[in-house]
Amino acid sequence: MHITGAMLIGQTDVTGTEAVFQAVDPATGAALDPGYAGGTPSHVDAAARLADAAFASYRATPPAQRAAFLREIGSQIMALGDTLIERAMAETGLPRPRLEGERGRTVNQLNLFAAVVEAGGWHGARIDHAQPERKPMPRSDIRMRHIPIGPVAVFGASNFPLAFSVAGGDTASALAAGSPVIVKGHPAHPGTSELVGRAIRAAVQAQGLHEGVFSLVFGVGNDIGQALVTHPLIKAVGFTGSRTGGLALMRAAAARPEPIPVFAEMSSTNPVFLMPAALKARAAAIAGGFVTSLVGSAGQLCTNPGLVIGIASPELDTFIAAAREGVAGSGASTMLTAGIHQAYEDGVRRLTGLSEVEVLTRGNPSDAPNQCQAALLACSAEAFIRDPQSLGHEVFGASSLVVRCADEAQMLDVARVLEGQLTATLQLEAGQDADLVSALLPILELKAGRILANGFPTGVEVCHAMVHGGPFPATSDARSTSVGTLAIQRFLRPVAYQDIPDSHLPEPVQAANPWNVPRMENR
Ligand code: NAP
Repeated sequence: MHITGAMLIGQTDVTGTEAVFQAVDPATGAALDPGYAGGTPSHVDAAARLADAAFASYRATPPAQRAAFLREIGSQIMALGDTLIERAMAETGLPRPRLEGERGRTVNQLNLFAAVVEAGGWHGARIDHAQPERKPMPRSDIRMRHIPIGPVAVFGASNFPLAFSVAGGDTASALAAGSPVIVKGHPAHPGTSELVGRAIRAAVQAQGLHEGVFSLVFGVGNDIGQALVTHPLIKAVGFTGSRTGGLALMRAAAARPEPIPVFAEMSSTNPVFLMPAALKARAAAIAGGFVTSLVGSAGQLCTNPGLVIGIASPELDTFIAAAREGVAGSGASTMLTAGIHQAYEDGVRRLTGLSEVEVLTRGNPSDAPNQCQAALLACSAEAFIRDPQSLGHEVFGASSLVVRCADEAQMLDVARVLEGQLTATLQLEAGQDADLVSALLPILELKAGRILANGFPTGVEVCHAMVHGGPFPATSDARSTSVGTLAIQRFLRPVAYQDIPDSHLPEPVQAANPWNVPRMENR
């Protein structure tokens, strides 16, 4: 497979008619061929009509066929071989091992959703059998299952060109649910997007599915994304990116004649709480793990540890000294795009310009284009509590702010003023830090989607129990996750069938249970 600069609308290659853009190698600033001509609302309309036409047959696919399709996408992605990895390296500046790992994660994610489709729990089938003799009123036979919501628009993320992009978690979970998908490719990696889009398209063909099950459109500037979100045949949106972008899409979706849900994963500073006994036991080791987590991938991870909260003490000083040494020794690394680099520089400049913020150290600078120079900053808990919005605002990249608390009570107050987060981390010594941990956990449950101990938040396992979500502004809907198999729930809705004859019921709630799905039954 090779790249051509085309959009993929069903099985047809379509060249856009709007301004041509090219990917840029962020490490060199060089433009990469081919050019991609942006699409128009009429291209979006063509893709949405095809998706709508595909919906009836796609949502009726039996579990084995849908699972085979998801696995086939993974096989087609692997078959792209080094062509995919080399293009993604050129478009993102990310190193080969990171991208090979991400490819593995993408394929595993598709395979995991295939297994979920087969296992059938996602139908959420429930049966309340009729009770004709019940007094004073008989009870009807009521059966419930979940159906897919309809065609889903997915916005590929810049920072995971494979695992959160064209065939990433949003696409995999929507396809698993039975919803056709239209991806708006991220303009930073169009070649990678096209290659993966072609892999999905090949899988659609191999499985004999309707061509409208998948389309990929391109464009820079917000027009094509807005056209997608406001198209009447689109029924839900998956997005990973900036808070500004997510909020704009939420507004557009809410203003439609028929409003639709937007599942946006936006911004998080991922606080790390340093418990006193943990600092006493291993301050320098915690600092080592923290620096590794902070500077990896130039800090361009949604779970990057951007806040560290500790109680002023000689042990916190030891942590800070070791973290300072680690950050000062860290090399600059290439950021994904010139825009993201500029936003990082602006964010660090804004923080360091505040009188409350102390610069503990910066990483090594570099003259090469778009280099992330890590930043370790500090402020007092009083200052943070006074203005958590400003001091706790995400700086996307390898920047972190250490918040010094006077005592445990102040640490709890810092936790209370935090915005919604994807993660919160506790560095603790089981037993010794028990009272503080017990006081923090109920606060953090209300703030974050995932709470972890003695690790670091970067590195999100794709599994059944994972929650990669959290209260606003981490996401637009704290009831969901964009990583892990629960992500399928975003694209489903329940339907109840009351006294419908068995011959007309869908398979998951038929008496014979032909798909053998797990069901909750009440006789
Ligand atoms: P972005 O600017 O939010 O863009 C993401 C996608 O949404 C792009 O395809 C973009 O395309 C589209 N988009 C953005 N605003 C839109 C609007 N108003 N209407 C329609 N479509 C819109 O994110 P990014 O380019 O990936 O990175 C920029 C910043 O986002 C970063 O500096 C960082 O702060 C944040 N970010 C956060 C995370 C996270 O996980 N928390 C991940 C990635 C990025 P067009 O621009 O072509 O419209």
